[in-house]
Amino acid sequence: MADTIFSKIIRKEIPADIVYEDDEFLAFRDIAPQAPVHILVIPKKEIPTVNDIEEEDANLIGRLFLVAKQLASKLGISESGYRLVINCNKDAGQAVYHLHLHLLGGRKFSWPPG
Ligand code: AMP
Repeated sequence: MADTIFSKIIRKEIPADIVYEDDEFLAFRDIAPQAPVHILVIPKKEIPTVNDIEEEDANLIGRLFLVAKQLASKLGISESGYRLVINCNKDAGQAVYHLHLHLLGGRKFSWPPG
């Protein structure tokens, strides 16, 4: 499977501003933040895109959202609100082919997205 920059962050081969880590997940600040809070929450398992999620990953993906929810609370944006985004493939602008959940908050977001 293709090694991405996020695999290197998981292995601590390149630095990142890590805000959470456990056996299954890593969360770190996006290097080009689009909001006052912009965290990437990733499973350590290498899943390239949403299209590659398998039935066996169902619990893992559920826990990915629980980590995001807990981080939103810890970072003080639970009540003001936040946006969770997963880009899949080129039309959505996916740049890194290791599944990641963007946790964005600290400002208002428009809808629909541009
Ligand atoms: P996506 O377009 O959904 O694939 O998002 C990839 C995200 O990864 C972008 O928001 C980038 O700014 C972010 N990113 C790329 N390299 C790094 C890095 N080394 N550390 C933190 N965030 C990164």
